[in-house]
Amino acid sequence: MKGTYFLGNGNFEIREKALSSLGPDEVLVRVAACGVCGTDVHIYHGDKGSAEVHPPVILGHELAGIVERVGENVDLVAAEDHVAIDPNIYCGKCRPCRQGKKQLCENLSAIGVTRDGGFADYCVVPQTQCFKVDQEIPIEHAAMAEPLACCIHGIDRAGIRPGSAVCVIGGGAIGLMMVQLARIAGASSVVLSEPNAFRRKVALEIGVDAAIDPLEEDLAARYEEVTGIHGADVVIECVGNTKAVEQAFAVAGKGAEIVLFSVPKPDTFHPLSLDDVYHKELSVTGSMIDPDTFERAVSLLNERRLKLAPIITHAYPTDRLEDAIRMQMSDESIKVVVSPDLTEPVALQPGESWKSYIFHAEIR
Ligand SMILES: [Zn+2]
Ligand SMILES: [Zn+2]
Repeated sequence: MKGTYFLGNGNFEIREKALSSLGPDEVLVRVAACGVCGTDVHIYHGDKGSAEVHPPVILGHELAGIVERVGENVDLVAAEDHVAIDPNIYCGKCRPCRQGKKQLCENLSAIGVTRDGGFADYCVVPQTQCFKVDQEIPIEHAAMAEPLACCIHGIDRAGIRPGSAVCVIGGGAIGLMMVQLARIAGASSVVLSEPNAFRRKVALEIGVDAAIDPLEEDLAARYEEVTGIHGADVVIECVGNTKAVEQAFAVAGKGAEIVLFSVPKPDTFHPLSLDDVYHKELSVTGSMIDPDTFERAVSLLNERRLKLAPIITHAYPTDRLEDAIRMQMSDESIKVVVSPDLTEPVALQPGESWKSYIFHAEIR
């Protein structure tokens, strides 16, 4: 097999890797699509992901593919099944794990972070990490199961109830899934704050009630104008800089729940108005990965409850990973995926799936 190894310091190298024999509970997945995540960009720049990275390692934790072979004890999936992979593996032994908070596991390992992942043509995973997806779903949508599962945990943390007024800060792939999940969770209004005009347009197509440019307008004032509500009940921040956090607090109404969902740089601090927390009785919460939410993510995918095609804007061959990461960082893209089945980069039109590329390409 072939994998794009991360060597540290922003360096990648394509290497051959021998396919070892499968353990009894292991599954060999032929990778069809793998998303480039914000945390991959962090790792590329030398920061850590959900767990510490020790190069050389094949990154890529948002993967989906087709089961090629299974170990002798495997009964969850079979050859030819289409699967999305939950990358996060918990120890089950540490205090958080034994308190039902596995996402805070002290010995977390993750496919595509601490062990070889999806920026390769094959990936070996424990069967418990495999979730079967409908074969009719474009495989790049299945690769969105992991970020979607993380978003579902964030939505759970946000405590959205029927009739909640929700404001999402940041219209990247995460923000654009959050607005849809907020609606599914019962929000009466969903407003997005996003400076990039292209992303605002996509958000309006997806179905937000309003998309506000926070650089051109005062977010809190405009929010009140469009909703008639003095501050949101739930604010979900999906950007990861202090400006966005400031906006999240500004647009939060009385009794609001603020979820700081983004992965910030480790040295980011935000001054907090204690008076605001007191007088508005604010709750501020973080959200870490995807504890027991993957099954629900796959259910939503299989039931086609989300619009993902407008979010996935570019697809690259896996061996052009650095170009894909650069595109993920640019304003032109929303979500970039890579596939070993592509030979050239593809800019996807909204609604277009490149499924055909995968199943009709001359593969390996
Ligand atoms: Zn991710
Ligand atoms: Zn643990």
